[in-house]
Amino acid sequence: MSDIINLLPDNIANQIAAGEVIQRPASAIKELMENAIDAGAIEVKLILKDAGKALIQVIDNGCGMSPTDARMSFERHATSKIRNIDDLFAIRTMGFRGEALASIAAVAQVELKTRRHEDELGTHIIIEGTEIKSQEPCAAAPGTSFAIKNLFYNVPARRNFLKSHSTELKHIMDEFTRVALSFPHIFFSLNHNGQEVFHLERGNLKQRVMGLLGNNLNAKLVPVKEETDYLTINGFVGKPDAANKTRGNQFFFVNNRFIKSTYLNHAVTRAFEGLIEKETFPLYALFIELDPKHIDINVHPTKQEIKFDDEKIVYAFVHAAIKHALAQFSIAPSLDFDLDPSIQSLDAINRPFTSDKQEETRGNYLYKTFSSQGQAHMIEKSGSLDNWKEMYKGAEQMSRPASGSSFSGKTATTQGETVGSFNREQTSFPAFPAMPAAAPEARPVAQPVQKVLIPEQQEEIKGLLQLHQQYILSSIRSGFILIDQSLAHQRILYERYASALMNKPIATQQNLFPLTLQLTPADYTLLDSMLDELQTLGYLLEPFGQNTFVIQGTPADVEQGNAQKAIEQVLEQFKHYSSELRLEKRESLLRSLARSNAIAYGKILSQKEMQALIDELFACAQPNFAPTGKPTFITITLEEVRKMFGG
Ligand code: ADP
Ligand code: MG
Repeated sequence: MSDIINLLPDNIANQIAAGEVIQRPASAIKELMENAIDAGAIEVKLILKDAGKALIQVIDNGCGMSPTDARMSFERHATSKIRNIDDLFAIRTMGFRGEALASIAAVAQVELKTRRHEDELGTHIIIEGTEIKSQEPCAAAPGTSFAIKNLFYNVPARRNFLKSHSTELKHIMDEFTRVALSFPHIFFSLNHNGQEVFHLERGNLKQRVMGLLGNNLNAKLVPVKEETDYLTINGFVGKPDAANKTRGNQFFFVNNRFIKSTYLNHAVTRAFEGLIEKETFPLYALFIELDPKHIDINVHPTKQEIKFDDEKIVYAFVHAAIKHALAQFSIAPSLDFDLDPSIQSLDAINRPFTSDKQEETRGNYLYKTFSSQGQAHMIEKSGSLDNWKEMYKGAEQMSRPASGSSFSGKTATTQGETVGSFNREQTSFPAFPAMPAAAPEARPVAQPVQKVLIPEQQEEIKGLLQLHQQYILSSIRSGFILIDQSLAHQRILYERYASALMNKPIATQQNLFPLTLQLTPADYTLLDSMLDELQTLGYLLEPFGQNTFVIQGTPADVEQGNAQKAIEQVLEQFKHYSSELRLEKRESLLRSLARSNAIAYGKILSQKEMQALIDELFACAQPNFAPTGKPTFITITLEEVRKMFGG
């Protein structure tokens, strides 16, 4: 009898192995992106056709490969990342089995172009079903480009097994999001069938979270940061109003690797107990770091599970960290200065928040006065709890409507005024429309933990003082508070508009004399795309010939006559916000409109108006900051005043 054991031919063996590593376009993408990161790239571009079924291309600017390495990279167990078995356990790079490229090449048509930075010429390899079709020198950008065409073209059973474009695309987005989240300092883009779906500039984690999960999260992310000898945790949880109906936005990373853990998810969910509705899921992106000796990652690349040697510690730690973060935010919301660079460059934000800045400005007088606890500008992120409590009455007052002092009549507008122009003759009512009598109703829904901070007026000073037609000075129990009239009003309007978009549209009044608005083609197109939202916010615009709109109606509580200017300003700011900050359209519109319609500096306010402004501000869900991130008020305690007088 002859022997019956054969060695499988390479290509079959590779196809079988490929089945384990590459199940669908998303798994190939994950491997290629991780390779790019391992190669030190700081720019990784992903280009797809037909949900990756026709084309997956990953272009990086990493180290590139020599001609020999380029050829070698497709061999099974070819890796530059492990030399011995110890490496396998200490491994910190992303992929680690030297199998990905071999697997991909077994089941697709692959084109590789790569060049090391130090080389003049690059290498071009075409390989199909493990078979090298060509290899030649070529001109190439430094770095590597892998193009994977027709995945599973030679394995019909697998190709047929692929799901619809939308399902495969969903898997791809998930994978892309996980990788992009763990490397905020690397640029990523995703282009699908010629459309740019993601364009993620290099930045910090908060920017990356927003870039991936929504720019509207800016005011909704609570930083989580705790360190112990055993492990550290870092990242963000969404405020309760950012919770989702699905589990989509929940990410755990351990040593920067995405993992799935129902156990740790439970720890987070429990910290949100009572804060979010049942059937909703808190948003989180949390990064746990600990010595790899405490964990056992299943080395199978498609498994995302992990074992900790002491699960209970990790659970308790995660739970406590989230609790702590939430407690801090509910008392002093958004004491978080990790903002967009463009926001960070704003003057008000630019005060000493970062450690570098702190050093720089430590000797500065302003710094000394503004750095004490209890300041809106406070530098330390924790520990202010007592002071806040001292200054403000508790949350039990939060439902108190801004009664009495709200305006009910028509108000004049100041849209035409430029910031800083002082108009002393102006004594008419300012343009802040009254909140509805039951102010809390106007707030966005479902914000059970939002504490509204109502300043407690001192008996001895009844009146409010307007300083330089810019600030309102008010006494509070522990000292005094300075409110920026324009920024505060922006916050009020912003929340009002947000709630209008969500719940009830703002009433429109027909203009007696419809105004025409002549625009550039680009502005016309832009405005045209906002008509629905604008109408919900009270502006009724109708197309009227070439690049022209007629303004038929304006919000009922804004004086007629300034609408043209207001819309022009909205357009201008809209462009600014959407290009500088890459905000969503809706968010840009809200901010723009709030800013256009907010009372200007130089506006003289009556006692009643100031009181109304304060009431409305503190009835806001997020009174501490204007929509752009600037503080709406600062507080100075008597303690600090005493110190300044040498007491
Ligand atoms: P592994 O990543 O586990 O080493 P792969 O099959 O994914 O195995 O890759 C094989 C080898 O090819 C890597 O070890 C690396 O040396 C090289 N390589 C793969 N992708 C790139 C890239 N984008 N840039 C530079 N080298 C790469
Ligand atoms: Mg790899």
